[in-house]
Amino acid sequence: AGLPYIVGNWKMNGTRAMLNEARAIDRAAARFPKVQVAVAPPATLIYRTRDAADIIGVGGQDCHAEESGAFTGDISAVMLKDAGADFTIVGHSERRTLHGETDADVKAKAEAALGAGLGVILCVGETEVERDAGRAEAVVGAQLEGSCPHGDGAPEKLSVAYEPVWAIGTGRVPSVADVAAMHKSIRAKLVAIYGESGAEVRILYGGSVKADNAAELLSVPEVGGALVGGASLTAESFLSIVGAAA
Ligand code: 13P
Repeated sequence: AGLPYIVGNWKMNGTRAMLNEARAIDRAAARFPKVQVAVAPPATLIYRTRDAADIIGVGGQDCHAEESGAFTGDISAVMLKDAGADFTIVGHSERRTLHGETDADVKAKAEAALGAGLGVILCVGETEVERDAGRAEAVVGAQLEGSCPHGDGAPEKLSVAYEPVWAIGTGRVPSVADVAAMHKSIRAKLVAIYGESGAEVRILYGGSVKADNAAELLSVPEVGGALVGGASLTAESFLSIVGAAA
């Protein structure tokens, strides 16, 4: 559904010097009108990135489910929107694992983001043990059932990112056949959850996407874009992935 969506997740990387990369990405994105390009910088850079860029989307990497309150260190979806964000990532495996986020937590965050007028990139994905046990599709299906948002703007403003945990930052990528099977299974689950409009949700692949595998991954049926970590940290490597999507 729609243009290929190539999103850079900078994770906990980037001080003001990274704005040069954001500017270069933004300038080059003008040459790829058939690709929707976005970056999710650390929260401290959202406002400046929005200010430095005209074309690309800018997003958060997480949000709190509440609008405001006594939650030291947390940032709400309303605050992300106020800082200039267009969307936020929720449910990244690094949050699920390192911060103990459950499907219910992720769902509440996604609903808060939609309520604040943000697009949502909801991450799901199995561990290596789960894949080896033949449970990858069941695990991802259960994550979707537990964490897909309802209400404001769902599913129109939702993208799902399939990120196998074992492929993140490892240089390992599932086979084209495995990506195709998983994305087909995710599509079926989205249609079961949302009805017909589940067919419109964009499904991204993430996990060791690089310039040299992007074209192949993006050609897989039901792969509507990529969520890119390490290779999004320089304009040069990120733009070669954007170019592969064009
Ligand atoms: P890498 O591209 O570094 O494997 O990270 C993927 C990811 O987690 C994006 O959210």
